[in-house]
Amino acid sequence: MQIATDKPVLVTGATGYVAGWLVKRLLEAGLTVHAAVRDPDRAGAVVALGEGTPGTVRLFKADLLDEGSYDAAMAGCGVVFHTASPFVTVIRDAQRDLVDPALKGTRNVLGSANRTASVERVVLTSSIAAVFGDQADLQDIPGGVLSEIYWNTTSNLTHQPYSYSKTLAEGAAWEMANAQDRWRLVVINPGLVVGPGVSGVGRSESFGMIRQLGNGKMKSGVPAYEIGMVDVRDVAEAHLRAGFLPDAEGRHMVFEAPYSFLDLAKVLKPAFPGYPIPERELPKALLWLVGPLLSRQITRKLVSRAFGYPWRGDNGKSRRELGLTYRPVGAATVEMFAQLVEAGLVGRRP
Ligand code: NAP
Repeated sequence: MQIATDKPVLVTGATGYVAGWLVKRLLEAGLTVHAAVRDPDRAGAVVALGEGTPGTVRLFKADLLDEGSYDAAMAGCGVVFHTASPFVTVIRDAQRDLVDPALKGTRNVLGSANRTASVERVVLTSSIAAVFGDQADLQDIPGGVLSEIYWNTTSNLTHQPYSYSKTLAEGAAWEMANAQDRWRLVVINPGLVVGPGVSGVGRSESFGMIRQLGNGKMKSGVPAYEIGMVDVRDVAEAHLRAGFLPDAEGRHMVFEAPYSFLDLAKVLKPAFPGYPIPERELPKALLWLVGPLLSRQITRKLVSRAFGYPWRGDNGKSRRELGLTYRPVGAATVEMFAQLVEAGLVGRRP
């Protein structure tokens, strides 16, 4: 793959977990990376990614909700990687905490692209959450296998609001892309991302989920939840290819294979003896009964529609058109858990 280094590239949300490995890959390829961050004073780790690489990092201050704040960062860039979007599950107000930054933020960044003549391509970090809402949705599609032709139609502000935010944001991106013909939109729809942070443990919900497998909270059992999962480094590679392969187009489901939380726990158990890693799945009926008492996030509708179903998807387009080969998610999870151990965020049994 030919990577043009004559123009800088922009990465929004450069402090993020997924963005970190992408920034590193871009710097290794010798690019000048315009790193848009909310707080440049907290972005030392992003600058450090440039050390020992042929690339250059330039920090820019920008916020998804601050109209026009990406203009300066985008000036002169050929490719824009828009990764910034909140990935949190504990929220107070779904509109304010998820939908506004995802949707208004995407319109804000793509509005800058419309005003920036040098931009030829925008790579958007969407999610498989924009392809389906609940595992139960798969029962309504022919063959029960998800692919890029599907859209999430079942999430809303009160049910799976993160998925809703990603669906609205990707939809708006396609609307804006189709209304002009200078820049091309290429979308990456990753599954649940796992693997080590490029600069240690990050704030992404990915760390929160793997942490729960080792902090004792799920010692008595995990929800029977299955979804496509992917190594964070493969997600970065997918973005790079989406940015520079001349023929890359459309959406791409990016995941290695379906895994359940119990599958991950079974890989972690022998690698981390003595840690309170779950050994079984909780019965769905029990979760339905007590889930809402344990957490505001575990609603009865969520238990009914997302837990206890198999998840199937087709990653063929990403392999054929982006040429991706996938690393095993199990090994990535072990590396990620080791970072959590190192940071003292998971505990041995007393
Ligand atoms: P993350 O580490 O929390 O990254 C989110 C990034 O968005 C951070 O850089 C954050 O900046 C930035 N951000 C949030 N609100 C912002 C705002 N108002 N203005 C400017 N920047 C803002 O999470 P991640 O897992 O890497 O997620 C990155 C992208 O991947 C998101 O689009 C997410 O939806 C997508 N994705 C993630 C997964 C996954 O499993 N992790 C799966 C599929 C898709 P701060 O550092 O300042 O907070």
